[in-house]
Amino acid sequence: MNVFDTDKEYIASTYKRFPIAIEKGKGSEVYDMEGKRYIDMGSGIGVTAFGIADEKWQQAVIAQIAKVQHMSNLYYTESCAKLAELLCKKSGMKKVFFGNSGAEANEGAIKAARKYAAEKKGEDTYTIITLENSFHGRTLTTLAATGQEHFHELFKPLTPGFIHVPANDLEAMKKAVENNKVAGIMMEVIQGEGGVKALDAEFVQGVAKLCKEQDIVLIIDEVQSGNGRSGYMYAYQSYGIQPDVVSTAKGLAGGLPIGAVLLGEKLKDVFAYGDHGSTFGGNPVSCAAAISIVERIDDKLLEEVREKSSYLFDTFEKAEGITAVSGMGLMIGLTTKKPVSEVLGKCMENGVLCLTAKDKLRLLPALNIPMPLLKEAAEVIVKACS
Ligand SMILES: *Cc1c(COP(=O)(O)O)cnc(C)c1O
Repeated sequence: MNVFDTDKEYIASTYKRFPIAIEKGKGSEVYDMEGKRYIDMGSGIGVTAFGIADEKWQQAVIAQIAKVQHMSNLYYTESCAKLAELLCKKSGMKKVFFGNSGAEANEGAIKAARKYAAEKKGEDTYTIITLENSFHGRTLTTLAATGQEHFHELFKPLTPGFIHVPANDLEAMKKAVENNKVAGIMMEVIQGEGGVKALDAEFVQGVAKLCKEQDIVLIIDEVQSGNGRSGYMYAYQSYGIQPDVVSTAKGLAGGLPIGAVLLGEKLKDVFAYGDHGSTFGGNPVSCAAAISIVERIDDKLLEEVREKSSYLFDTFEKAEGITAVSGMGLMIGLTTKKPVSEVLGKCMENGVLCLTAKDKLRLLPALNIPMPLLKEAAEVIVKACS
């Protein structure tokens, strides 16, 4: 079978794939079907948090599969409860709803905010404010939340009740709150797909204050930035705010599908029986996998993430072909002098897999990528940019 031809014939054409077929990997190294080795600086878009085929993760998954792979949410399972407890302890949030993806986590977060506002302020208070240039997912509701018009084209009508304001513009946010009946404000504190941009602390703290004053639900989308990626368990923790709702997914289960809505004190009991649900949500295998990841995101690991981050910032800031370095932790964006597609191609040729975000090169390596591999990859990237 020719995987390229078969894929092109039978898979819906939503993805512009690179001409590489990955066969296997170990940690931060992957191999294609011809045996060519690559350093993985994308980790499946921030998903394989501890790399490919990680031992502890594998053992957790295999052990759970041997016990029970799925039972539905009609029954209790240990891994689901244990993961929820761990997440709450590490975030200061109070209760968790599990789904299967980032978009679903955001859907759950939006439903939570709308229900809270409907009960508290009346059903006409349903507007959710998000930021321009944001990305919140591909379902019709999370597309409506996504502040990038080109994703909306030809899919209208989207779910009503979403407006977008410019990032880092507190006055515009205040005005939008004044002029609408606002249920919630949702934002990524580090915009990922929008170009790896960390929001200004003043803006984030100002929005948090505004939400508190007006009893507006503050939703932080940590789908990409969460679970250690930023050098903090959740990126919002570095801003000194406490959101009402946090959504997360990507890296949480280290490579199995999962999404989580974390509910804070104010909204912990907003969902009652029947308000929300998911067949696969809280799947015991995904939850067991996630426990094996979250247990290892401790102070030592986070410190290592921050150290690796400083190494990359230092290296790239003095590189000739790179004009700007953005992001936080191991979520990094590079503005390159050469067109980003050219840089990406050159890196690939030379055995390093990277991502892009808008016109930037985006790096999301595994949190535990060994320093020698990180250095090797950084050298290839610097060279490709020059
Ligand atoms: C990837 C992403 C999503 C969507 O997650 P899916 O699992 O693809 O549905 C939502 N928000 C942010 C910030 C993301 O990076």
